[in-house]
Amino acid sequence: MINTRENTRVVQIKDVKIGGGNPILIQSMCNTKTDNVEATIAQILELEEIGCEIIRVAIPDMASAKALTQIIPKISIPIVADIHFDYKLALEAIENGIDKLRINPGNIGSKDRVMEVVKKAKQYKIPIRIGVNSGSIEKELLRKYGGVNATAMVASAKKHIDILEELDFKEIIISLKASNVPLAIEAYSLFATQYDYPLHVGITESGTLYKGTIKSSVGLGAILSQGIGDTIRVSLSDNPTKEIECAKYVLQSLGLRQFGIEIISCPTCGRTDVDLIALANKVEQYTKGMQHNLKIAVMGCVVNGPGEAREADIGIAGGKQEGIIFKKGKVVRKVSEKMLFEAFVNELQEMLDF
Ligand code: SF4
Repeated sequence: MINTRENTRVVQIKDVKIGGGNPILIQSMCNTKTDNVEATIAQILELEEIGCEIIRVAIPDMASAKALTQIIPKISIPIVADIHFDYKLALEAIENGIDKLRINPGNIGSKDRVMEVVKKAKQYKIPIRIGVNSGSIEKELLRKYGGVNATAMVASAKKHIDILEELDFKEIIISLKASNVPLAIEAYSLFATQYDYPLHVGITESGTLYKGTIKSSVGLGAILSQGIGDTIRVSLSDNPTKEIECAKYVLQSLGLRQFGIEIISCPTCGRTDVDLIALANKVEQYTKGMQHNLKIAVMGCVVNGPGEAREADIGIAGGKQEGIIFKKGKVVRKVSEKMLFEAFVNELQEMLDF
């Protein structure tokens, strides 16, 4: 049986909760040098503004760990310190006010060091994310399970979890990332049959904007639609703002979160008599950032458009040199093609003001 997101443990990170059926939170990671305080704050504020709910920063050295003291007072969302191996950086980051630690306890070194980090995490009420990556599974597990596969990934997670559980630490979040989509889906699904720790879901190194968006969306969609996943990160070789846009639309497409207006537009066909693509882009641009829970349709023909987009609250359908505005499938106005967008805007504003 799978532990779906309703059944995962709840982990508190600053003022937000992950797991236990709480809203699936959107994360991203800064690509600034963390010790460049101004640039890091600017990027976090920009990401916050467009909907990032948890931000991670790399802590590769002491200067970065110390920079946290200047960054944290200037931001509102929870901040996660991403640390590899060095327990001293983890201790410093916790003391400097981070809200969550991303570190694999099996990589910290001696038991004393692990104990020190866990003790401090407990003291400051800081959860730990264990991040398993298909590219860095321990050699002995690769040998035991015959290479990189879902069983080896879950076994790697178990190894790190066991270390924390032995120290009676359960404020744990897990990720099992792979850039191979079927492998990631299998690993997350398998893990959810064995544990109820909340899952941070992502398809790692998914690529550049266009292909990476598709790859991430396919992977995240397949995992999330099984009821698994408590927080997500889209990773793209692009500006992190694109990750937030993609993550929001993945969640909205699955009906898991609502982030304002949804636009549906037809793919165009031989019946299209208006410049539908330009019109759809114009509507999308106009409504960008509006937070209303509305569905808008932009359709290419008056014959099929209103019927095909019956579920839309308001829509436009183009015809020969003219078009219509419809609401819930019913025609409310007929106007010339030239006036179509303007008439639509008037009708939309009327709805929003109502
Ligand atoms: Fe073609 Fe009309 Fe359907 Fe658009 S709405 S795809 S123009 S039939």
